Amino acid sequence: MKFIAYVIILSLSLISFNTLGQKKAKHVIVVGFDGLGAYAVEKADMPNLKKMMQEGAYNTHVRTVLPSSSAVNWASMLMGTGPTMHGYTDWGSQTPEIPSATVTQNNRFPSIFTAIKKQKPHAKIGSVYSWGGIGYLLEKPILNFDLPTEGNELETQNKAVELIKNEKPSFLFIHFDQPDGIGHNAGHDSPAYYEELKNVDKRIGAIQKAIQDAGIEKETLLIVLSDHGGIEKGHGGKSLMEIEVPWVMTGPGVIKGKEVKEPIIVYDLAPTVAWALGIKPEDVWRGKAITSFFKK
Ligand SMILES: [Zn+2]
Repeated sequence: MKFIAYVIILSLSLISFNTLGQKKAKHVIVVGFDGLGAYAVEKADMPNLKKMMQEGAYNTHVRTVLPSSSAVNWASMLMGTGPTMHGYTDWGSQTPEIPSATVTQNNRFPSIFTAIKKQKPHAKIGSVYSWGGIGYLLEKPILNFDLPTEGNELETQNKAVELIKNEKPSFLFIHFDQPDGIGHNAGHDSPAYYEELKNVDKRIGAIQKAIQDAGIEKETLLIVLSDHGGIEKGHGGKSLMEIEVPWVMTGPGVIKGKEVKEPIIVYDLAPTVAWALGIKPEDVWRGKAITSFFKK
């Protein structure tokens, strides 16, 4: 009897070990809103984002790399490390100003796209992006979808919605150009900025609805985050208004309503996505998977 009890306990522990295992999501959709400062989240009228915070986990003190600008931070998120490694150092870097420490056969620093395609060759992966600057960071030959929309936010939304419904991608990175533009024109933390955040929130709602319509809600990790905040009419500097961005996440295994207090840097994104999909991180990445977002 003792032996049987031991076997039962052992198998139960194996079962819980399996649920602890890495494979938690079949699909990961990252929605990046350019220039969405963490400082704005509390004041903003963003019911969809706030519902995501209740139904998922979040951290509103995620740090950017320096400078607190666009290309350098999007590169860091997708490439799992900082600018002196991947080499994209500026707001609009189109080629690495510092030679990348290593590159793939397609001459790009290894990114989350690289890791997924290497380990899951049939995975459908890609990006829809409002800002053309994203295109320079992508390892295009391995992508199934590469859809630039030249600043048209509605087109970005519509193309992303169609893609989610028709293709059910394993990994999709959607980049929206707002609220960064409004931040530059009207000023961060201004009435116009908060007005635009209502539109940002509607775009989150549209992506959520597409995930539901596709019937993949239970197996999709949805991550909303940003590349930098801003102060007055700019960003790039060292104030917390520029440096702190939100990371809000819902999906399988994510703890409901948890504020993750652990310090996070934007380049933790790629390893966290890899972990959620159950694939190995690239050796050259320096970020880490933020497992405290997930149930043990
Ligand atoms: Zn930006």
